[in-house]
Amino acid sequence: MAKAKKKHKYIFVIGGVMSGVGKGITTASIGAILQAKGFRVNLVKVDPYLNVDAGTMNPTEHGEVFVLKSGLETDQDMGNYERFLNRDLSPEDYMTSGLVYRTVLDKERALEYKGKFVEAIPHVTDEIRRRYMHSAQAAGSDITVVEIGGTVGDYQNVLFIEAARTLHLKNPDDVIFILVSYLPVPHTIGEMKTKPTQNAVRQLNSYGVQPHIIVARGPVSLDEKRKEKLAIWCNVEANRVISAPDIESIYEVPVNFEKDDLSGILLETLKLKTRVKRDGLTVWKKFVESMKSATDEVKIAVIGKYFDTGDFVLSDAYISVIEALKVSAYKIGKKPKLTWVNAKDFEKDTASVSMLSEFDGILVPGGFGETGIEGKLSAIRFAREKKIPYFGLCYGMQLAVVEYARNVVGLTDANTTEINKDTPHPVIDIMPEQKKHMAEGKFGATMRLGVYSCVLKEGTLAYQSYVKSEKLKVNGRASVEERHRHRYEVNPEYIGQLEKAGLVFSGTSPDGVLMEIAELPRKVHPFFLGTQFHPELQARPLSPHPLFTAFLKAAADRHEKGSK
Ligand code: GLN
Repeated sequence: MAKAKKKHKYIFVIGGVMSGVGKGITTASIGAILQAKGFRVNLVKVDPYLNVDAGTMNPTEHGEVFVLKSGLETDQDMGNYERFLNRDLSPEDYMTSGLVYRTVLDKERALEYKGKFVEAIPHVTDEIRRRYMHSAQAAGSDITVVEIGGTVGDYQNVLFIEAARTLHLKNPDDVIFILVSYLPVPHTIGEMKTKPTQNAVRQLNSYGVQPHIIVARGPVSLDEKRKEKLAIWCNVEANRVISAPDIESIYEVPVNFEKDDLSGILLETLKLKTRVKRDGLTVWKKFVESMKSATDEVKIAVIGKYFDTGDFVLSDAYISVIEALKVSAYKIGKKPKLTWVNAKDFEKDTASVSMLSEFDGILVPGGFGETGIEGKLSAIRFAREKKIPYFGLCYGMQLAVVEYARNVVGLTDANTTEINKDTPHPVIDIMPEQKKHMAEGKFGATMRLGVYSCVLKEGTLAYQSYVKSEKLKVNGRASVEERHRHRYEVNPEYIGQLEKAGLVFSGTSPDGVLMEIAELPRKVHPFFLGTQFHPELQARPLSPHPLFTAFLKAAADRHEKGSK
């Protein structure tokens, strides 16, 4: 077993009791506070399912698919990591069981195991450990924080924990474990219960792993009595049991952790010393302050389709869009009030679209397939005609083009071929290379994915929005780099007609072939803009996205004038 070359430190974050208690935010926050102490940190997400990546998963079940700069389609937690670290992560920072097994099976086929049995232990665990160490090296980081998906006791994540255990065995001073556990307060008892956490630790112990730190999530703070109880029963020092009660905003978590000096505890456990004299979290704290002090509302309707799951409404499918809206609102000193509107509602009752007049801005995010499309088109038409600021992302841009073609150009049957292959006016059509993938049944990782350049037309709304941002590069031509995930595009055959009718393509691929941004001039509409790319994937608390900020400004102007 190879030892880690440079003295990398590893922190493994494992969940106890139940999922969905904020393991991802804990991991992201640990990254932020350690980075603030002057360390280079990379954050790794382990997803124990057999999908090779997150690209083929339904967002209603699994939440948003977050696309990295490289084009890898990953779990939404990677988005949180990038937002908290304020930097791009790489493909090495993500792995699934499927990806790991695929490497092992490919090696087996290539005779790389030299005739041996190939087994879960040690071959799969070796591959996992190699990936842990490789992520640290690829990032050149001092500390790697790995979040192991699922909960202790699951069958699916056992090998990932086992690989971490062996890494600790070889490098006992450089590897620590954190258990993020949940402490319920049942109504009928009215008392915070520690037993499920004790059992989670016992389960972890049975794998040969002893947590160094416990992050105790719960509806309220942990009191001293329970802290001591946990310390004794779970074999952890009392000061290493961290209370993490529910709070209003995820962005406060790093600040809250620091109130308990979590970074100090982590550094002490990892035998490291801080590398900074000043408080590295100052800028983050300023952001949190701006968030808390915003009082003037700006009301945005997000028209989507991935909201229902059984009896519950989930907004996870749009998490980056939501966070992008929030951080841009805080940037202009406004308090975002976001409302989820199910596009299907406008199909049942077409007149109901007028309810949108009470909003300051309307956003149609990305999506696939046919559900809710006509509802989205009505919302876009309403936004255009009533001059309500409109922002369309990917599908939201394509549908804005369809709406314009139908109702302004007069091509009443215009559509995207994603919905109607036989439309007489395919204003949005599949990209030529995508046709081949579809014919061959190759769906995984074949979309147009990741960062591509977009050249901006000077003087346009898009250009004006980007002009003061560091995202704009002027190298002969003004361009920006944005992340993509699509198979369809504006059909080049209709560009002339659309432009003649007043639609402006203010951003294109450098060769001019792909339309990246469509907009209406400011003198016609206060803000009507759609992007083929996903700007939300690069919007971060400390660097909000200029297009979102421009949209929010337009919405705030409408609010001041009094919506309706
Ligand atoms: N379904 C559209 C396409 O594939 C839009 C994709 C998206 O919104 N991410 O082009």
